[in-house]
Amino acid sequence: MKIALFYKENKLSKECVDDFTRIIKAHGFEIDNVSPDVVIFVGGDGTFLRAVHRYLDSLSKIKFVGINKGHLGYFFSYQENELELLLSDLKAKKYHEESYRLLKASFADSEIYAVNEIRIESPFQTLISEVEINHKRLESFRGNGLVVSTSLGSSAYNKSLSGAIVSPKLEAMELTEIAPINNRIYHSLHSSLVLDANSEIVLKPKTSNIIVGYDELVGEDKNSGVIKFSLSDKKVSLLYKEDYDYISHLSKTFIED
Ligand code: NAP
Ligand code: MN
Repeated sequence: MKIALFYKENKLSKECVDDFTRIIKAHGFEIDNVSPDVVIFVGGDGTFLRAVHRYLDSLSKIKFVGINKGHLGYFFSYQENELELLLSDLKAKKYHEESYRLLKASFADSEIYAVNEIRIESPFQTLISEVEINHKRLESFRGNGLVVSTSLGSSAYNKSLSGAIVSPKLEAMELTEIAPINNRIYHSLHSSLVLDANSEIVLKPKTSNIIVGYDELVGEDKNSGVIKFSLSDKKVSLLYKEDYDYISHLSKTFIED
């Protein structure tokens, strides 16, 4: 089995990387950062997001598993001192595997993918955007922005906006507003909308200088035109400890450790 070690540069000391590499090899695994079977990501949730974007073109061949290093670590189940345990679990195939569909946004001449969400935001001027769902007009949105989240990402930015947390077992997209303007003149749904996996959301922003953010990234030159959101066929596989349970995981993440 070929393993890639993925971490944010300058966030892990050289000693730590050397140590991890030595332990991985001592367990009989080969290190291959180009075409790995397993990517071990070390850091926080942002590290997982970066790792998925790094291996976007070969996701179907890869399993991801994380070692948390002092972060919230929603995508993790192994702690810093548990590399040996992780490697022996890998060898024994003693783990729980979940796979999640990525979200896709299509622009006139390009596409982006996200694990958590894709959002359009306008920090300086009110964002005005037409919102169409499955070829039907929903509304003219005015406010700071709109977020389209996956079920997996529903506990991230979407949650901060009071969007519902959706079980990642439900293949869905959730549309959530950022600071909508709602008064006698302007109306938007003013509620988070969870849609089935076959839906298509189309946003037609009329404001210039919008920012398109996705996961921990920002799209360049994606300021104009029509943006189409759908669930993509790309899937990411994430490994947890064998006793993984979603509700316990939520409780540990948001209520108490
Ligand atoms: P970050 O600022 O470190 O992320 C914000 C927090 O969200 C961190 O505590 C992060 O965990 C956690 N997180 C990330 N994905 C999660 C998920 N699916 N469920 C629950 N918590 C999650 O930035 P980052 O690490 O590069 O992550 C990028 C993500 O930050 C974006 O995809 C977006 O969802 C989120 N974000 C949130 C807000 C907000 O809530 N106001 C604003 C911008 C972006 P770690 O501490 O382990 O990194
Ligand atoms: Mn982070």
